[in-house]
Amino acid sequence: MKIRDIKTHVLSKPLDKPFAFSMGWVNQRSSMLVELTTDDGLTGWGESLCHGLQPPQIAASIVQHALKPIVLGQDPFDVDVLWERMYNQTRAFGQKGAVPNAISAVDIAIWDCLGRATGKPIHKLLGGAYRTQVQPYATGFYRYRQGADIADAVAEARRHIDAGFKAMKLKIGFGLEEDIAYVHSVRQAIGQGYQLMVDANHAYNVGSARRLLKAIEPAQIHWFEEPISPEDIDGYRELKNSTDIYLAAGENEFTKIGFREWVSRRAVDILQPDLCSAGGFTECRKISALAQAWHTPIIPHVWGSGIGLAASLQFIATLPPSPLGLSPIEPILEYDQSDHPFRQALIFDALRIEDGMVNIPTGPGLGIEVNRDILDQYAVAH
Ligand code: CA
Repeated sequence: MKIRDIKTHVLSKPLDKPFAFSMGWVNQRSSMLVELTTDDGLTGWGESLCHGLQPPQIAASIVQHALKPIVLGQDPFDVDVLWERMYNQTRAFGQKGAVPNAISAVDIAIWDCLGRATGKPIHKLLGGAYRTQVQPYATGFYRYRQGADIADAVAEARRHIDAGFKAMKLKIGFGLEEDIAYVHSVRQAIGQGYQLMVDANHAYNVGSARRLLKAIEPAQIHWFEEPISPEDIDGYRELKNSTDIYLAAGENEFTKIGFREWVSRRAVDILQPDLCSAGGFTECRKISALAQAWHTPIIPHVWGSGIGLAASLQFIATLPPSPLGLSPIEPILEYDQSDHPFRQALIFDALRIEDGMVNIPTGPGLGIEVNRDILDQYAVAH
């Protein structure tokens, strides 16, 4: 079997109601998808994570100009060799950010092909699933106007609870006083029965984050995600030793080389690599092994379309709980609930919450099918 072609699909749609997180306004939802075909007629799909402020055309251009020439005509079963070639041949202008982001999409598409070639879901090819379903948590609570609106946040929390969520993550990073009041108000409104996390998208420095951690500890926050810049690993170490709230980060880190520093320096309690950005299955299984060796749990970052969601579920299935006992601490699924015109439509609404859980897809490859009408509907020039 040989890789015959790689197409990139750039999808984008302006949002009817743009929303803000601590770094800026998200005016559109976009995806960069890779469609890989083989000489015996198989098709595999992959996705690059597209952050709220990220133009999807960048990853598409890297796939077309830098990665496609490396993998065309190659055997997809040589996926490890192909990954290292892609990384090594882009090292001088890659290593972090858009290049591993693009490599991830190609790698995921290759694994989807391998699954379809063998008739197995990707988690079987990676050594098997530790679980058949995963508990989702709701990511949302973005801002639609300036300032915190407690009534809006409480109404959103109620919607998530009604949808079956038992855990949810608040967006903070809008100033210490505002954040502290917001977190306590939401906790008070929803009560103690639900897991609450907060995410500042690296809006603070060590001093202000330490003050914030102390002030929100009484609200029983499960983890504080990206309190400070991803470049400040020593800052994370300082914060981790100052609080009972778990520290989490990783969506802005890439490859086993990048994660080596976070893991070996014990910078966080929870690592959050994004499969569609940190390097795809080939690299994230190595990041998982690193994390296991340092006894650090992984709860992946997920913010893509249905393809990224399905891929992340395949990866989550393979994460070993540590320790593996009768009541293991299980990974949970980040399930973005913010506006996205084609997140579910792209995969025929295949991944829904049932009885508070999301099932790991068991069909070949990623375990989902792609709706080509949606590709046409949201395609933009690139
Ligand atoms: Ca985040």
